[in-house]
Amino acid sequence: MKTQEYSVEEKLKMLYKLQLIDSEIDKINILLGELPLEVEDLSDEIKGLETRIEKYKDKIEEDKEEIKAQNAKRDEAKALLEKYNKQLDEVRNNREYDSLQKEIEYQSLEIELAEKKIREAKERIEENEKLIEETQQKLEAKKKELVEKQAELEEIQKETEKEIAELKAKSEEIAKLIEPRLLSAYKRIRQNVRNKLVVVRVQRDACGGCFNKVPPQRQVDIRSHKKIIVCEHCGRILIDKALAYEVYEDLGGKFLEVMKKEQEEEKELEKKKKPARRSTRSRVKKS
Ligand SMILES: [Zn+2]
Repeated sequence: MKTQEYSVEEKLKMLYKLQLIDSEIDKINILLGELPLEVEDLSDEIKGLETRIEKYKDKIEEDKEEIKAQNAKRDEAKALLEKYNKQLDEVRNNREYDSLQKEIEYQSLEIELAEKKIREAKERIEENEKLIEETQQKLEAKKKELVEKQAELEEIQKETEKEIAELKAKSEEIAKLIEPRLLSAYKRIRQNVRNKLVVVRVQRDACGGCFNKVPPQRQVDIRSHKKIIVCEHCGRILIDKALAYEVYEDLGGKFLEVMKKEQEEEKELEKKKKPARRSTRSRVKKS
């Protein structure tokens, strides 16, 4: 088939069709890029929980050491206490008696203090064991979620790879119909524009790519489909709504839905513009 046989209108339609299909591929690729991030986030969360459990375990070990040390201190104090109590029976004067009493008092306090510290350490161990259990439960749930997410991801990747392959085949098919000069311009612009949109609609009197106003005369030219017209600000190819709708109808599926939704919104807008506001309001009240 010779590409020269096509009219400007047909060329514009083909270009827009190509744009829509390429945009679909772009969208899917963005989605595909985001999915592994979810799995990554979950992996990070799991790592965080594991680290937390390790920290609790370290604290428990520290407290166990503390208990050991305090036990030793207490035993030492008890032995001294016993010794001083025995010495008490053999005191020779008041001075010795007072000093022994002071030692006994001091060692009793040491025993009390050690026992208090042991009690506190035991409480902390219990608390940390509880925290470990709770965190372990969270961890198990997250691990389960990760396995599911990974399976889901693989499934989606498989499905979308198929979808992308189909869309790419379609894109190539259309590209073949477009004259090389125009196609290379399309590809060049596509690489240079931020949102990868080369063919855009005039919407609300503005370019659908850069949102700069399109002068009325230019819009008339765009609607006439006699020439390929580009936005004077961003260089994107501009088309009018009617042509876009023809392409949507041609492509069918979700594009038809997009078009219907748009048409409904337009109707709503029209309604709002009309001065018959009062009657609409009263109708709403009645219902
Ligand atoms: Zn523009």
